[in-house]
Amino acid sequence: MDIQEKYTASEERYDNAENLYARCGRSGVLLPRVSLGFWHNFGGVDPYERSRAITHYAFDHGITHFDLANNYGPPYGSAETTFGRLMDDDFRPYRDELFISTKAGYDMWPGPYGDHGSRKYLIASLDQSLRRMHLDYVDLFYSHRYDPDTPIEETLQAMVDIVRAGKALYLGISNWPLQPLKKAVKYLQEQHAPLLIYQGRLNMLHRKPIEEGILEFCREQGIGFIAYSPLAQGLLTDRYLEGIPADSRMAKDHFLHPYSRTPKLLDYLRELQAKGETRQHTIAQEALAWILEQEGVTSVLVGASSVAQLADNLSVVSRA
Ligand code: NDP
Repeated sequence: MDIQEKYTASEERYDNAENLYARCGRSGVLLPRVSLGFWHNFGGVDPYERSRAITHYAFDHGITHFDLANNYGPPYGSAETTFGRLMDDDFRPYRDELFISTKAGYDMWPGPYGDHGSRKYLIASLDQSLRRMHLDYVDLFYSHRYDPDTPIEETLQAMVDIVRAGKALYLGISNWPLQPLKKAVKYLQEQHAPLLIYQGRLNMLHRKPIEEGILEFCREQGIGFIAYSPLAQGLLTDRYLEGIPADSRMAKDHFLHPYSRTPKLLDYLRELQAKGETRQHTIAQEALAWILEQEGVTSVLVGASSVAQLADNLSVVSRA
């Protein structure tokens, strides 16, 4: 699409609503069962037109939830900058149809105030995020990780105050262990800013949220659960069956190391492929369907480096 061409969202974007949306815990919010993450493929190093095409495809097919964080890129902050550009170019008329999240908790800027869980960091970080994203507020703000060195009340009260200030509508927690999560749920309830959702890594190769009781706790408490890296960064697809493609995350990025492509994994993938064939599922669809079948999972938060990948992933909700 020419960069100057005006984007108009597909009129059919909610035609699959019955299959696509699920209630997030016991809240009033519906989220798409497949949501789109901006960790990779939306940074300053990525072609803007490709990022743009992926978001158009997403929104045109009812994916209303885009997930960001302060340091997504690379470089840090640039995924939010890309999002801000997308808002200006295409999505401003659709702001109220979008559910946008961002996070703070990992390293973002140098010095003692650009990392971890202090009030100073969280509030300054969200202000920066809003400026980069050209938004007045986000729908959802997350603590990206638990910081055992900051009093839990300091982190949580900063989050409550962010909601009170109108900078976020809802609160989320990501990667916290179960015990502090329990404290957080209680604290936020008492402050009338209840926890909406937990974001954790859950896929067929990594089942800790199930094993550690986090998913069960969220389900019991009426808190939504969104699974990140549902395809194990691409391991649970056909991407690495025959080798390591030059344009793949494994070839380009230190987050996915070639040592994870083991003979055991390849056997597992071939089994999954054979199983999928009977249901006319790709490996990716098998992997996503497994997560979506877990009771209490609201959404899978996929990444995609092409429209074709996103289309493959999204079809799990019409074909599960
Ligand atoms: P995935 O597990 O979905 O991996 C995405 C990658 O898998 C793509 O970049 C692509 O790799 C490959 N892929 C995706 N779909 C297909 C397909 N159908 N066929 C073949 N290959 C495919 O998720 P991510 O690890 O990217 O994480 C998703 C989101 O979760 C992030 O963007 C972020 O929003 C969130 N997240 C949150 C974290 C947290 O701490 N809270 C941590 C990590 C992620 P390739 O690029 O090689 O084409």
